[in-house]
Amino acid sequence: MLSEFELIADYFTRPVRNTARIALGVGDDCALLTPAPGMQLAVSTDMLVEGRHFFPGADPRLLGHKCLAVNLSDLAAMGAKPLAFTLALALPEADPAWLAEFSRGMLDLADLHQCELIGGDTTKGPLTISITIFGEVPPAQALRRGGAQVGDDIWVSGTIGDARLALAGYREEIELGAEELTQAATRMHAPTPRNALGLQLRGIAHAAIDISDGLRGDLQHILDASHVGATLEVDALPFGPMLSHQAQPLQRRYALAGGDDYELCFTAPVAQRAAVIAAAQQAEVAATRIGAIEAQPGLRLRDADNRDVVIDAPSFDHFNSP
Ligand code: ADP
Ligand code: MG
Repeated sequence: MLSEFELIADYFTRPVRNTARIALGVGDDCALLTPAPGMQLAVSTDMLVEGRHFFPGADPRLLGHKCLAVNLSDLAAMGAKPLAFTLALALPEADPAWLAEFSRGMLDLADLHQCELIGGDTTKGPLTISITIFGEVPPAQALRRGGAQVGDDIWVSGTIGDARLALAGYREEIELGAEELTQAATRMHAPTPRNALGLQLRGIAHAAIDISDGLRGDLQHILDASHVGATLEVDALPFGPMLSHQAQPLQRRYALAGGDDYELCFTAPVAQRAAVIAAAQQAEVAATRIGAIEAQPGLRLRDADNRDVVIDAPSFDHFNSP
């Protein structure tokens, strides 16, 4: 049987690569970070609980990827460059096959973003994974929720709604072909955090958030923090390729209130349209203009014929959603 310390040594300990920023990694009572002079540290935590955020028996490699991806996504939304993360892990048992896959999925993504695992905590318990991630951002350049200004365009990266479509397929709320479900499920299980875009948007975007609970609810956080309102053009929403095959009411509902998209929703002045497009090209992801920030409070939905649209679908809330 693996001991706690063998487990940490075998699966979660590697030599520190970025020694300029990470003075000490796994193995002592604390890790030591050396932020670049004058930079601010951006810090965020996200926790994933079995049966709540992922299905019992979930593929461990995808799970490792997703746990880190959702944390990287928070740094992306802030315009912060990933540095390092800690991992708090509760495991029902020390299963070497599971640990090998889980750590592989997590550390492969970590390598891709040059974000190092520098410590954590390991305990026996119901499968729960909590990551705290650290990034750096120049002072006053973080993309905060409160920066949206009247007249800004509202943009979204990539496509949205396919993760929610996969969930509907699993729950048999709707019938999906096997291939369709597989494709949509990739968006649910292996989200791609938009860190390159987040960095490119420094100095261009006024406000940003990553879409974890659904576009409408997450955009509302920007509106609340910025004390503004908005109109969204529902016919401009970039539906995921699988959602594109579905009927319009479902497309709109899943794109607005689906969740698990991990795209960026951001606002930028009209004068920065070309800069946003160029930033997205640099980051190799689409950016679609989906609405405008307005002084009138609240979020209005409008179709391509300029008619008001009403869509009754609340975004996800852990204490009020099924
Ligand atoms: P402490 O008793 O000081 O909390 P631990 O015995 O829990 O230390 O952990 C020993 C070392 O291993 C520490 O440096 C800690 O940060 C690290 N560690 C523990 N669990 C993990 C994990 N799942 N991934 C990475 N590092 C871990
Ligand atoms: Mg400990």
